[in-house]
Formats: sequence, C-alpha cells, structure tokens
Amino acid sequence: MRVAQLGSGTPELAVVAGIHGDEPCGVRAVERLLDECPTVERPVKLVVANEEALERRVRFVDEDLNRAFPGDPNAKTHEGRLAHRLVDELEGCLTFSMHSTQSHAEPFAIVNGISETARAVVPQLPVAAMVETSNFAEGRLFSAVDTVEVECGMQGSETAAQNADRLTRSFLTAVGALPGDTMHSELPVYQLTDVIRKQEADTYEVFVDNFTEVDAGDPFAAADGDTQVAEEPFYPVLMSPNGYRDVFGYAAEKLDVLSSPTAAD
Ligand SMILES: [Zn+2]
Repeated sequence: MRVAQLGSGTPELAVVAGIHGDEPCGVRAVERLLDECPTVERPVKLVVANEEALERRVRFVDEDLNRAFPGDPNAKTHEGRLAHRLVDELEGCLTFSMHSTQSHAEPFAIVNGISETARAVVPQLPVAAMVETSNFAEGRLFSAVDTVEVECGMQGSETAAQNADRLTRSFLTAVGALPGDTMHSELPVYQLTDVIRKQEADTYEVFVDNFTEVDAGDPFAAADGDTQVAEEPFYPVLMSPNGYRDVFGYAAEKLDVLSSPTAAD
C-alpha cells in the first residue's frame, strides 16, 4: 500500500485507488495529483491500495479486497491483512474510492445508504446515476469507512482514466479541498435488490443495457444458450457477460431523482 498526502495537517479526506489490481484508472488519477501537487485548502490523503495485485495486473492476490473489510491483522490472506491496514489508514476520512467495470462506460456513483454526505456530494460529480447498495454492503470498504465509490468506465480504457481524473477533481472541489465550482445535476437513484446469478457455462450473453428497465417477460441473459427471462420488471446494474465469475450482475429498482439544492449560499 502506498500512502501520500496533499497539504499539511491531519486529513479528513482520502482518495483511494487500486482496491482492485486490474483497474488502473484510479492509480493514474492519484499519480497525476502527486505529479501536479495542487495547493489544497484541506489536506487530502492519497492511497494506492493493492500494489501487489496491481503489479500482477490481477483483481486480487488471495481474495477480493472489496469483500474483505474490516479485515484482520492476522488474516491468512494478503487482502484480509491489507483491509485491516487500510481501515486504520482511512479512519476519520471521508473516502473517495475509484473502480472500473466490464459493464458500463458512463461513470456512476455507488453509496452505502443515502446519507447526507451522499446527497450533498454525489450530485456534484460528473456521474449519470447513484446506486445504493446497502443490501450488498458486507465486506466492502464502505461497510467500514465513510466512502463514496465511483465506477469510472470500462476497465483498462483511456476514457476510464480520464474520467477518474475528472471525478477526483470534482470530488475534491465538492468537499472544499480544491477551489472552484462544481456542476449540480439531477441524479436518478437506484437501489440494488437482487443478485442475478449465472450457471457455470462456456459462453455467456447479456441482452440488455444497464440502467434501462427490463420488462417482465423479456429475455435478459443466457448461459450456453439457456435464456433467462425477467419474472418482474427491473433495472440491470453492473450486468456483463464475463465481469464476475458467478453472477451476471444485479437487479435494481429506481427510487427517485436526487436534485441537490443549488448552492444558494
Ligand atoms: Zn473495482
């Protein structure tokens, strides 16, 4: 784990990259901040989390770090021990954690519960949606640390790296660490309700687009040609043929549209 800091004093803000070793976009954003070393109005901790996995270009070494929190100093796995150190490092920090996906190019935010922080910060980020995942929070960073996660785009793409940079700057501006103004947008909010499992198969297909409602009776995915049909309407989120080993993704419902109060003060 690599830890650095912008500004002086005890940080209450953190930017975390490389929770997953095969998602380099956030690392680029952190390295750029370190290169440019902008003057900050609040100190910010910068963390590159799973350096071992990044070096090997794999998602993880022993287990998924984002299912290993809060971790344990004596854990048998590299990620179990790293999770514990990371929680220690991020204690007291509002944390911005960057990911990328194999399912959706447009950035979106992931939060654990719709907190006041989430309501205040997320509509100021250049994201298309906010996804609330408290039904599936176990083991994730935001179960242990106050965290806003963002999906920056397609894994390994140049666009995802550029998005990570833009998202990080927007976050740091929204929380008053960097000067300037942010955009405020109206944001649809989705809540994950179910996991969409997949059978062991040689080929997987997904027929639907993320964040676009699937109607009851519509076929939405197939494993070796065996088609799955929606029993009730849902919004697919993080759905992809090969993103995860045993799930296609998640089913969500649309909660409402979050419109942040425009900064009148
Ligand atoms: Zn990730």
